[in-house]
Amino acid sequence: MLVEQTRDGTQRTWWLPRAVVRLLDVAEHAETRWLRAARTRQASAVVTEPPSRPRQARDADGRRTTSPEGPTASLRPYNKELEGQLYSVLSRKTGTSRRVAGWACAVCRTAPATVLDHCHEHGYVRAPLCQSCNTQERPDHLYSNDIRVANRYTRLFHTDTDDWLRHWHRCPGCRARTTLPLPHLAAWTAHIACRSLRPTHRAPRGRKPCGVLRVSWTGSQNAPRSCLLTVAVDFCPSGEHRVLARVPYREAAERFRAWLAETAPAVAAAAGPDRLDGLPAQFRPVIADTSGEGLALF
Ligand SMILES: [Zn+2]
Ligand SMILES: [Zn+2]
Ligand SMILES: [Zn+2]
Ligand SMILES: [Zn+2]
Repeated sequence: MLVEQTRDGTQRTWWLPRAVVRLLDVAEHAETRWLRAARTRQASAVVTEPPSRPRQARDADGRRTTSPEGPTASLRPYNKELEGQLYSVLSRKTGTSRRVAGWACAVCRTAPATVLDHCHEHGYVRAPLCQSCNTQERPDHLYSNDIRVANRYTRLFHTDTDDWLRHWHRCPGCRARTTLPLPHLAAWTAHIACRSLRPTHRAPRGRKPCGVLRVSWTGSQNAPRSCLLTVAVDFCPSGEHRVLARVPYREAAERFRAWLAETAPAVAAAAGPDRLDGLPAQFRPVIADTSGEGLALF
């Protein structure tokens, strides 16, 4: 920080780093809002939702914590602005990343968005996401056709599943087929559909599920008849368990549809081939993306 003083000491000019100036601006902005809100509250007690009211937890489980309006208050909620657009086109447009940074994450709705999430199977943009949500969603690939199905799937398929199903079905390709991209469908099959097949082992307190879940597949969704999912466990403590189930792709997709209708009826109702109003009848050919570079963008 620099202070420039004139010889007679009457005038001072402050030189501040840009980041500090921005921080001071934000603080001043917040203070103005608080003062205005305090005045509003004094002026009328009947206002049920004063403008400074901290954003409340959206649901009762406390997952979304109440946060006072700070710098994130200026983030716009994502409102399907990029719906139906192709990622390959948007990612090349100048200004896209600046636009993305102006939105709040479309899943947690609290953190600033940093990436434009898209469906690798159909190429459509889903929505802007924050770093944390994007990381959570990225399949944990051991190989291109083999993933580890660890604990974070609990959030994707249990606690926060309504948000995530809504998010995945922002891809018109997944929505029209009432499905998920293959790695997600495979993870769902291991985590949800084959849950009852997971062995348990004796542990100090009760029983513990065996090892770490893993799912691999042969072929792809483009040749569903020959696509087979294999659900297995790694690190079985007694070494007796390995492959738990082999599930054909079509069966997995059917079971997913039934589960979706029960778990997220609104998402299921919006899905299906008749919901493609305004979209081209013919999907563009799907190019299998097996490069590691592509996965980084997932
Ligand atoms: Zn987020
Ligand atoms: Zn898709
Ligand atoms: Zn075991
Ligand atoms: Zn992603």
